[in-house]
Amino acid sequence: MMSMKVTFLGGAGEYGRSSFLLEYSQGTVMVDCGVMKKDVPMKEKYPLLRQRDARKIDAVFVTHSHEDHTLALPWLSRLGYRGPVFATGQTIKQTKRYISSWRKNQRNIPYSPADERRLAFVKLPDYRTNEWLRFNDHLTFKYGRSGHTAGSVWFAFHADSQTVFFSGDCSLESTLLSYEWPKIQQVDLAVMDGAYGDFDADQAELLGEAAAAVAVAASSGEQVLFQVPSVGKSQELLAACAKQHIPLYADSGVSKGCEELAESPDWLNGEDTRTFFRRIARPGSPVTKVQKPSDVQPGSAGFFTAETLLAHKERLTGKNVHLFSAGPEDEELKNFACQASIPYTKFKLKVHPGLRENQRLVSMLRPVRTVFTHGTPENVQRLIGKMPGCSEYVACSCGDTVDVKADLGEKQALRGKSK
Ligand SMILES: [Zn+2]
Ligand SMILES: [Zn+2]
Repeated sequence: MMSMKVTFLGGAGEYGRSSFLLEYSQGTVMVDCGVMKKDVPMKEKYPLLRQRDARKIDAVFVTHSHEDHTLALPWLSRLGYRGPVFATGQTIKQTKRYISSWRKNQRNIPYSPADERRLAFVKLPDYRTNEWLRFNDHLTFKYGRSGHTAGSVWFAFHADSQTVFFSGDCSLESTLLSYEWPKIQQVDLAVMDGAYGDFDADQAELLGEAAAAVAVAASSGEQVLFQVPSVGKSQELLAACAKQHIPLYADSGVSKGCEELAESPDWLNGEDTRTFFRRIARPGSPVTKVQKPSDVQPGSAGFFTAETLLAHKERLTGKNVHLFSAGPEDEELKNFACQASIPYTKFKLKVHPGLRENQRLVSMLRPVRTVFTHGTPENVQRLIGKMPGCSEYVACSCGDTVDVKADLGEKQALRGKSK
């Protein structure tokens, strides 16, 4: 029996361009195909993919829509890939949006709009999670909600009597999105999300601290302006602040993100969250949609993308304004706040697993081998140092291949159970 192989084309030992090739005896599939968002030379921006790889791939499976997992898909099509791109309905919708805004905002793009149009997305139904599905006579796969975005999933693949698990970007503690525990008997290799290294904090506590600080600022008459991405953390924060009974406002991007969540109740965590977003989509919404920061009344909190805040930044000065961010921070906005002496407070919230979440997942799956991706080598080393000994941990960088069954060289095996 052939050993399955996973090649890390990107996202190993780095944060960005996640892309993994999975080879089994009868074929090859790819999991994710993203770009490095930060400013790097072209050859570090896209996955280490050659034309002959692109042509031998039978299918691409996408865990979620974020740029670092999807935006190299048109380039894959440019290299000659013509097969299906499997993802959930939410992920497909969001990915198409990311692809079109990437084209508008990037100067050098190694593909054409025709390459984008050629991508053949195939929807994975929301209701078939945690069920082994047949890809062909040799490969089966399953997926389940991963708690990272509406539509995000983990994947498991089974072929040649071996099972490989891909956690995707995940959050077991999201108060917004639900996580579905993988029902898998045996895992030979787990490719996990190590984005936060050994950072350890409780998401509900982090969220509670942020919401309490917003409440204190608002009750002292400040105009709270929270800089947020249009989807994700923003909705989790809004739901937490609503519990503090603060009048809430949001710009059109954040409001649209809320309305889309209301359309995906199956992805939401808990009945309270479902009710909150259902009410947002109706008249008398607990969140008022506004165009600009000055529409936010003193003693209230408004949620805006950095673009909206920067477009109206001259109107922010000389008032009782307090800026908040839960990351990713916008450098221009942060500098502006500093120069204009506007109070600026940064909070940490998780959208990737902290130490205890990875410990729980590995203790449950008990993979023979584990590779942490999505983080710098230093972060990954620190995380591995605190993981349970029930798995063998392997350090990988871009271009490395791990044979699921073969003995590893001394170089790769870091710690964990003896072979
Ligand atoms: Zn992500
Ligand atoms: Zn990611």
